[in-house]
Amino acid sequence: MNILLSKPHMSGREMIYVEEAFSSNWIAPLGPNVNAFEDELGKYTDHAHMLATSSGTAALHLALMTLGIEKNDLVFCQTLTFVASVNPILYVGATPVFIDSEDETWNMSPEALRKALVQAATKGRLPKAVIVVHLYGVVAKIGEIRQICKEFEVPLIEDAAESLGSTWQGLMTGTIGDIGFYSFNGNKIITTSGGGMLLLGSDSQRQHALKLATQARENELHYEHEEVGYNYRLSNVSAGIGRGQLEVIEQRVRARRNVFKRYERMFSEMDVTYQQEVPYSRANRWLTAMQLGRDVVSRDQLIQHLTGAGIESRPVWKPMHLQPLYRDAEYVTVDGEDVSRRLFENGICLPSSSNMTIGEQQKVIQTVLDTRSFIKEKSV
Ligand SMILES: *Cc1c(COP(=O)(O)O)cnc(C)c1O
Repeated sequence: MNILLSKPHMSGREMIYVEEAFSSNWIAPLGPNVNAFEDELGKYTDHAHMLATSSGTAALHLALMTLGIEKNDLVFCQTLTFVASVNPILYVGATPVFIDSEDETWNMSPEALRKALVQAATKGRLPKAVIVVHLYGVVAKIGEIRQICKEFEVPLIEDAAESLGSTWQGLMTGTIGDIGFYSFNGNKIITTSGGGMLLLGSDSQRQHALKLATQARENELHYEHEEVGYNYRLSNVSAGIGRGQLEVIEQRVRARRNVFKRYERMFSEMDVTYQQEVPYSRANRWLTAMQLGRDVVSRDQLIQHLTGAGIESRPVWKPMHLQPLYRDAEYVTVDGEDVSRRLFENGICLPSSSNMTIGEQQKVIQTVLDTRSFIKEKSV
């Protein structure tokens, strides 16, 4: 493959902070870059209680423990997502219930969520949390979802792993619910080569999450332990990379949005649709995801065609309720129509790197447009 879905894009400033780590010998975990990265991301997102973690998955695991979720508790989660949005529910021994998506943003359907909560309330078994995802950086119907969670007094966790820089009513995704997190994995909009950030609701929550992330040592001279801890902190070297990346986040959002706009304009004659931005929201368009209509080739044909041209593409995430791992989990739709399954079956993600050249994108566009003649040949 020579045109990738989403590749790292360095600012050139990362090495300054990494050198600092080396010259001061802060190679061991923690250190000044970690604190500075938390402060700087806290300023960018206007959020006070930040905890840098070794991954987004670790951040979500800590989020669930922070809310005291344990064995036999229920957690409601968007079904159309990456498996890391859900696996931490199993880490704490809780049970996921999957919620269908709606057609505009492709994220959690507020209607399906309300239906699931009403059913749960009737049974006297409300979930201990709801996990909403801003898929591919497109903001979910977060105002409605937050309101519904308030009504039922269920904490809301935002999986903002893909949506750093996306906003709703001037608020950054990740700061709208009770707890949120970002990922800085190599393919995300900015990277630390691997890492995450947990956004907590208070300083006491942060203190406890920090303790759990650093082997849960009690306040004694010797090593004293009362609860199970983890080794989940971000390293000082990785945080240095993050600081250099964070300086250019707004440029990266602009570049990804421009990639999206070019696809949209060039495919305006094709029978395709995209995730929509809800009013007063801005998507970072981490990946351009596209629904193929009836007049276009199938998703798999298009992927094969792109692969043949050296272009990486990928089906939309396979919903969790269709995964063998989660076969037995409960799944709630609005009226029986499986929206997320349809989005999966007809959805494709196109190369969206912020450092993709115009020439590269033109090649992707031309290759997609070429499949139109391919259809005609087939049907003649
Ligand atoms: C990447 C991602 C995660 C996990 O983040 P890691 O840093 O890779 O552990 C979680 N949820 C979603 C939706 C993601 O895309």
